[in-house]
Amino acid sequence: MTQEKKKLTNNFGAPIDDDQNSVTAGDAGPVLMQDVHLLEKLSHFDRERIPERVVHAKGAGAYGVFEVAADVTKYTKAKFLSAVGKRTEVFVRFSTVGGEKGSADAERDPRGFAVKFYTEEGNYDMVGNNTPVFFIRDPLKFPDFIHTQKRNPATNLKDPDMFWDFLSLTPESIHQVSILFSDRGTPKTYRNMNGYSSHTFKWYNAKGEYFWVKYHFKTEQGIQNFAAAEADAMKSKDPDHATRDLSDAIKRGEHPAWRVEVQIMTPEQAAKYRFNPFDVTKVWPHADVPPITIGRMVLNRNPENYFAEVEQSAFSPANFVPGIAASPDKMLQGRLFSYHDTHRHRLGPNYHLIPVNAPKAAVMNNYQRDGFMRVDNNGGGAPNYYPNSFGGPAPDPAASEPPFDVTGKAARRKYTHLNDDFVQAGDLYRKAMTDKDRDHLVNNVVGHLGGAQKRIQLRQTAIFYKADKEYGRGVARGLKLDEKEVERLAAMTQEERARATA
Ligand code: NDP
Repeated sequence: MTQEKKKLTNNFGAPIDDDQNSVTAGDAGPVLMQDVHLLEKLSHFDRERIPERVVHAKGAGAYGVFEVAADVTKYTKAKFLSAVGKRTEVFVRFSTVGGEKGSADAERDPRGFAVKFYTEEGNYDMVGNNTPVFFIRDPLKFPDFIHTQKRNPATNLKDPDMFWDFLSLTPESIHQVSILFSDRGTPKTYRNMNGYSSHTFKWYNAKGEYFWVKYHFKTEQGIQNFAAAEADAMKSKDPDHATRDLSDAIKRGEHPAWRVEVQIMTPEQAAKYRFNPFDVTKVWPHADVPPITIGRMVLNRNPENYFAEVEQSAFSPANFVPGIAASPDKMLQGRLFSYHDTHRHRLGPNYHLIPVNAPKAAVMNNYQRDGFMRVDNNGGGAPNYYPNSFGGPAPDPAASEPPFDVTGKAARRKYTHLNDDFVQAGDLYRKAMTDKDRDHLVNNVVGHLGGAQKRIQLRQTAIFYKADKEYGRGVARGLKLDEKEVERLAAMTQEERARATA
């Protein structure tokens, strides 16, 4: 069947006569200003780029479905979780963190794992990573931390001194550093990795009782990672390999799936727990809080247009629905502000109207008006203030979160009731890893830390030693450092160690 050819038009629908030859005065030119088609085409092209994300710039996305597998109504009143078998559409974006938009998918980096659930009570975003913990636990440190993972301000090169200087002066990072430098820091594809909320969140039920939860998305494709040499080879062979893999698998009908689990703690358990349950540098060991399966997520549809649907997708851990709320995790509290803020910078104040970000199963109704790119009817003629007596939308007290107690003086404070920073990194090394994992971890660290100054190598190796003596000794041997010196530094306080290696 022959299709009628679509007519080329300008941005306002008027037909274009010729898209190959500019209007010139005579055969040889010059080009005339009255070629308004040329002017429109060039000026739109000049504005094609939007700011790339300051973190998580390189990514891939897909649509799918989440299906509930267990009755969790005694923990949360979220409607999308209210019945076994209930299905909710999702959009998921995977990403690396530190690299620019054109960087390689196989870089050593945590991977972003962001899920938008289009629920009937509004969009709920779970904006996690493929690691269960994070490098820092106070948002005040985040811009500094990210600067150290980016480029040196003088050379514009990635800089092992910056990278390790900051981390060795921030020992709470050791747990995440140990995961990052294990082969889990170079997942084979986005399909072969887990996702974690990392943060603790609050779930509350219809009676107003609340619980603390962590999410785990376990890959049904199995964890598969690149060893360092394989990741390096892939960077040059196909810098977009994970983006390609996701889209090709979905095209082939191999729809990737994750089992969704939660760990749940009561407030009473949390108050007595041996770790601060809101410290994002810590996991809740499975033996203490066994994960339970609550659902399954399957990705089954590729986006049609990358820019419209993936580049313009915008997630925020502040997008909650009734039944789910924030915890006091300080990193999370910083993120509650920062995500919407960065999207307003990157996409504009009306980014919530972009179809991938707009609610699909609920209706947006409020008194926010105007601003750049207000592309819906902007509330039409309805009242733009509240309260009003003209039938405008009214708040629903049933959507309120149960109140919680806070105590103490307002001040800049460290986390209290900390078990030390090293115990869980040590457990990872000793308990969770195989001999091969440990060997790769040490070699991966040596390969990267070897590029930093010797005093920084010593300071960081002392931190590995504090997590586990063998771990520290292995790194010291690989870097040809004096093991006695490492041991001496490890016995110091962090302040003494910083002075001794200044
Ligand atoms: P468990 O033995 O119950 O759990 C160990 C978990 O470690 C595994 O279930 C797996 O998590 C994960 N794991 C296995 N190999 C590696 C690896 N090479 N790199 C990173 N993670 C790996 O012990 P605990 O719960 O006491 O945890 C021990 C350590 O395991 C923790 O300190 C933490 O570093 C790590 N871990 C713990 C998680 C948790 O939520 N408790 C989650 C992930 C890691 P998974 O099944 O999620 O793949």
